Amino acid sequence: MSVNKNILVTGGAGYIGSHACKALSKAGYHPITYDNLINGHDWAVRWGPLERGDILDRSRIDDVITKYQPSAIMHFAAFAYVGESVTDPGKYYRNNVVGSLNLLEAARDNSVSSFVFSSTCATYGVPDALPITEDTPQRPINPYGASKLMVERMLSDFGAAHGMRSIILRYFNAAGADPDTEIGETHEPETHLIPLVLDAATGRRSQVTVFGSDYNTPDGTCIRDYIHVSDLAEAHVRAIELLGTGAASRVFNIGTGRGYSVKEVIDTVSRISGKTVPVELGSRRTGDPAALVAEASRAQDELNWEARMPGLDQIVSTAWAWHQRGIAGIYSDRQKMLSGLRWTE
Ligand code: UDP
Repeated sequence: MSVNKNILVTGGAGYIGSHACKALSKAGYHPITYDNLINGHDWAVRWGPLERGDILDRSRIDDVITKYQPSAIMHFAAFAYVGESVTDPGKYYRNNVVGSLNLLEAARDNSVSSFVFSSTCATYGVPDALPITEDTPQRPINPYGASKLMVERMLSDFGAAHGMRSIILRYFNAAGADPDTEIGETHEPETHLIPLVLDAATGRRSQVTVFGSDYNTPDGTCIRDYIHVSDLAEAHVRAIELLGTGAASRVFNIGTGRGYSVKEVIDTVSRISGKTVPVELGSRRTGDPAALVAEASRAQDELNWEARMPGLDQIVSTAWAWHQRGIAGIYSDRQKMLSGLRWTE
């Protein structure tokens, strides 16, 4: 009997989603990207078909599910700018919550009962203690984190009512790029630390502003747990495999368990690029906790997953290689690929 390897990947044209498609393809699955291309890039869809569509469009989701009959859904499609979620919460609740509800109902009605959801450490808010375990209370402090937490709750309720099995992955700070430099981080606008520091190193931006240097941390700057995006992608493959064994729903933190400060990130970029990074010390950014570090052992024990590139050096080197490659290289690759390849559907 042939096993159904089709996986519907919403947001598969985005930063993390595209790395997940690559990892799925390497592991023998067939990722089908469902993406409205508002923040995603068609050039990032290289490991399976692109079905352009919005998660708010229920009939389009139904059509795509009917066409491919996926065995599971991996759901990345979301708006993810924390600051924007504060100024325009409706946009976040509509897309991230209502859109996810559409998708869940479509999955239920089409008998797709396995679901992998990209959640976030932003659902924890400001933790009372570190490291953050999966049982740390979830008290999001912005609409983005709240929208993700609502989907977690819906998944649990759909599990109880309809037998939907889900794996929820709560990411810490996704960073770095595909070591083959086929894909990488390209946000517009860019708000994430590492690409901004790389821009400052290369003169694409005049400087990087450190958001607060008076935190109660060893060097005064914020500490985050940076997880390589390819490691993060691999965790999704493990999640699909675990669901494939018939396992019950589960939640996992995906981080390394090791934190780095903003200053350490800047120093690492400077060392790896060989360039001076112009830095301005600025004020704190609203809503930034001083330190967020994962307790990542549950994923190691139960998901059989471990970060293979846990160090900041590997994260920054791959991000730097991607940054140097530039957009022109990506387009030329895409043209070559389109002229030489046909998708297997
Ligand atoms: N950060 C900074 N300057 C910037 C962007 C980010 O100092 O221009 C800091 C931010 O305060 C946080 C860390 O870098 O402590 C990572 O921020 P990012 O926006 O990349 O991810 P977040 O932790 O908000 O998900």
